[in-house]
Amino acid sequence: MKNFDIVIVGAGPVGLFTVFEAGLVNLKCALVDSLSQPGGQCIELYPEKPIYDIPGVPYQTARQHVNALMDQIKPFEPEFFLNTDVKFVERHELGNYTLQLSNGETLMTRNIFMASGPGKFIPRRPDVHGLAEAEADNMVEYAVKNVEEIIGDDVIIFGGGDSAIDWALELQHKCRLTLIHRSEKFKAVPANIEAVKNSNLIRTFFGYKPEKIDGNNVTIKSKVERMVLKADKVFMFFGLLTDVNLVQGLPEDIYDSNKRIPVDTEYFQSSTPGIFAIGDCNDYPGKLKLILSGFHETTLAVQEAYKRIHKSDPEFMYTTTSTVLREKLSRKHDNNN
Ligand SMILES: Cc1cc2nc3c(=O)[nH]c(=O)nc-3n(C[C@H](O)[C@H](O)[C@H](O)COP(=O)(O)OP(=O)(O)OC[C@H]3O[C@@H](n4cnc5c(N)ncnc54)[C@H](O)[C@@H]3O)c2cc1C
Repeated sequence: MKNFDIVIVGAGPVGLFTVFEAGLVNLKCALVDSLSQPGGQCIELYPEKPIYDIPGVPYQTARQHVNALMDQIKPFEPEFFLNTDVKFVERHELGNYTLQLSNGETLMTRNIFMASGPGKFIPRRPDVHGLAEAEADNMVEYAVKNVEEIIGDDVIIFGGGDSAIDWALELQHKCRLTLIHRSEKFKAVPANIEAVKNSNLIRTFFGYKPEKIDGNNVTIKSKVERMVLKADKVFMFFGLLTDVNLVQGLPEDIYDSNKRIPVDTEYFQSSTPGIFAIGDCNDYPGKLKLILSGFHETTLAVQEAYKRIHKSDPEFMYTTTSTVLREKLSRKHDNNN
């Protein structure tokens, strides 16, 4: 069992920034996310779109924003549990919690930060004959979880968005790769589309959909014809849906009828002490689903999380003037007093 001061459920922008605020007061965080990469909505829904309302940052794409957050939290060495669901939460005497994860790990903490946005993102499954069996055999997957396992294999990627294109480029030197898109045009970062077009390692088919999977035979069809291709592994990137199912074991009364978590606006704590809700998953009068609102919420929530552990307030310090904080942030060399 691993112990953390805060376990954050959801590695979107607000979950990520929590690590920074917690790190400033010496609290150690774990982040659990059902997806294979951090970034939440920013990465899954609009990675290349610009964000203009991050204070002090006139322009950043959503992907750049997440990269910057990842960079900012690096000094605090959070532990990530990706591709992982929280299976069950148990509350213990004295206000501690254990979280059982789908990867078999158990985490112990005094503070759970729900940063779960609109809910778990789940992959969109196409209507394909034999899909359930192929999923059960791990022949079809919706995320690349282990590159080592597929080195040298015949791999088919379905999709034409950022995930499909990114992975095609990433895997082209490691597998025999086929990229199949149902329309004639990719919808991804232009430079990456160009790179796919210029690659002689990626075989591409446009205007084809998957129809049937039987063992290693994958039947694809267009408006005019059918083809059977051989594959050891198929990845499908057809977008994501949200699943707002509640985390099992959390008290049901922390959720409202819209499956959001009402919180106070002093510490953004739910009706159950030690369970906080920050970012898009919470609700309170005047709530705005904006990244900067989530940053404010978690900054205050961390103060209460600290008190639940140390029974006293954390010392208030500016990152600008505190040598202690600057040491933590490895910026001792910035000598602009
Ligand atoms: C098209 C678009 C444009 C936007 N533009 C802006 C903008 O310009 N400015 C702005 O401020 N905001 C914008 N937003 C809103 C902004 O993206 C959200 O406010 C922000 O992403 C919320 O962050 P979060 O960390 O609370 O949640 P999310 O980003 O939603 O992340 C939640 C994470 O939790 C994970 N998760 C959920 N449940 C579980 C579970 N049970 N177990 C494990 N993991 C779980 C999910 O997989 C996800 O990764 C935009 C949103 C969209 C869709």
